[in-house]
Amino acid sequence: MSAAELRATLERLCKERPDLRFLSDSEEMTPYLREWRDAYRGEAAAVALPSSVEDVVALVKLARECDGVHLVPQGGNTGLVGGQIAFDSEHAITVSMARMNRILEIDPANNTLTCEAGALLADVQAAADDANKLFPLSLASQGSCRIGGVLSTNAGGCEVLRYGCAGDLLLGIEVVLSDGSVWDGMRPLRKDNTGYDLKRLFIGAEGTLGIITRAVLRLFPKPRSLMCAFVGIDSPSAGLSLLREAEEMSGGEVTAFELMPRIAIEMVERHTPSIRIPLESDAPWYVLLEISSSREEKDAIDRTEKILANAFDKNLILDGTIANSKAQEENFWSIRESISESQKREGGSIKHDVSVSVSRMPEFLERATRAVEEALAGIRVVAFGHMGDGNIHFNLSQPTDMERDAFMLESERFHRIVYDIIADMGGSISAEHGIGIAKLEENARHKSGVEQNLMRALKRALDPGGIFNPGKLID
Ligand SMILES: Cc1cc2nc3c(=O)[nH]c(=O)nc-3n(C[C@H](O)[C@H](O)[C@H](O)COP(=O)(O)OP(=O)(O)OC[C@H]3O[C@@H](n4cnc5c(N)ncnc54)[C@H](O)[C@@H]3O)c2cc1C
Repeated sequence: MSAAELRATLERLCKERPDLRFLSDSEEMTPYLREWRDAYRGEAAAVALPSSVEDVVALVKLARECDGVHLVPQGGNTGLVGGQIAFDSEHAITVSMARMNRILEIDPANNTLTCEAGALLADVQAAADDANKLFPLSLASQGSCRIGGVLSTNAGGCEVLRYGCAGDLLLGIEVVLSDGSVWDGMRPLRKDNTGYDLKRLFIGAEGTLGIITRAVLRLFPKPRSLMCAFVGIDSPSAGLSLLREAEEMSGGEVTAFELMPRIAIEMVERHTPSIRIPLESDAPWYVLLEISSSREEKDAIDRTEKILANAFDKNLILDGTIANSKAQEENFWSIRESISESQKREGGSIKHDVSVSVSRMPEFLERATRAVEEALAGIRVVAFGHMGDGNIHFNLSQPTDMERDAFMLESERFHRIVYDIIADMGGSISAEHGIGIAKLEENARHKSGVEQNLMRALKRALDPGGIFNPGKLID
């Protein structure tokens, strides 16, 4: 079927289903076919904009009936590995969930929120907040990413340490399957031992097994107080000890533990002069520690002060300060959040979003740093991120005396070095962003034959015709 015939078929479908819309003009389709960094430029015959689960079912049935036609689900188009981008101008239909964006229900007594899959993460957070509850998933892309997307990538963010990833916050789900049937798994239950936990199949599936249309999400009581500390430390090992002490002394209430090296702080100082580093003396590493408490503010302050005093006594920290105001707290976070942008201004960056068990993070940092420094003199290791989750952005900035393009040509060599260490340590080559097309080959190198066969068997069982997002996640 040609693209023109496919569009004519879609047009006929829209007459039957007046609430279903589609775009075929190339300018109108562009925002759905390019991602925010312009790293992937896609092509599609059309972009469909369903407004109901019935519309999604109709699209799946259309794809089944038209030879070779496939559907690429899309949420907020903030994914970083190309999973949401279609690459076939003849046969691909991007299915944007943006119009299915309603918050449907909040059950405060059950601590649950029900929404459509296209609900913006920020709207879910705001709706929970209005009900005096917390939806604890928090990402820098939260104003654009959507619930179906965060579930399909099992997104993390800054509070995973305490609340888990997107998948851990899911209780119930509704999915349109490849035969056009709808699986209503919208059970708002915390306990349900009635067989396979099918909803987990769609977490991190990157749109390859079905289209998520609704979800029931877990809410939490809002913490009564939040305390942020910014500390200088000698090494990641000291950071690990500090994390464990802080967890014990806070009764498990550490919500963020972000590690930053001195070089990252220097980059922030260079490129974002409005940001003030709150410590007087320099340190080789820094930690942003956040403790949220179910008790009154004074209690959280007392406990954070005790944690820092204990850490000083045990020589775990070199210097440290607690945020005394909301403005200071925002300043601490803006340091952490400015690292990516500041690093970008330093030229080429070869990035790795990896994880190892938290206890082995110091060992990983030491091994990987040594290996890349031996491979290229002057390479600048900017390793920062969610140490509390064992997830680090192991980014490599170009040497100051090297051309950007020449450095970026080395990407494959450095990916190999870093990912081989990760494999040796039983870690993951993609802690947060998924596989998409960006890491397809690399993932195949690291997953065992047994695991790959299991994934292919699931794909074949759930999507035998290959209509959902072919070529992504698994080949
Ligand atoms: C500035 C910025 C900061 C970020 N920070 C983080 C971070 O801290 N942690 C993190 O984990 N990620 C982060 N990301 C990555 C990204 O925001 C997440 O991967 C997010 O979960 C993607 O959501 P989305 O709605 O934009 O999905 P999309 O990008 O639209 O899609 C992502 C994948 O999900 C599939 N999909 C989307 N909707 C559905 C659906 N309804 N049913 C089935 N499949 C679907 C797509 O096919 C695709 O494979 C960041 C991205 C940006 C741009």
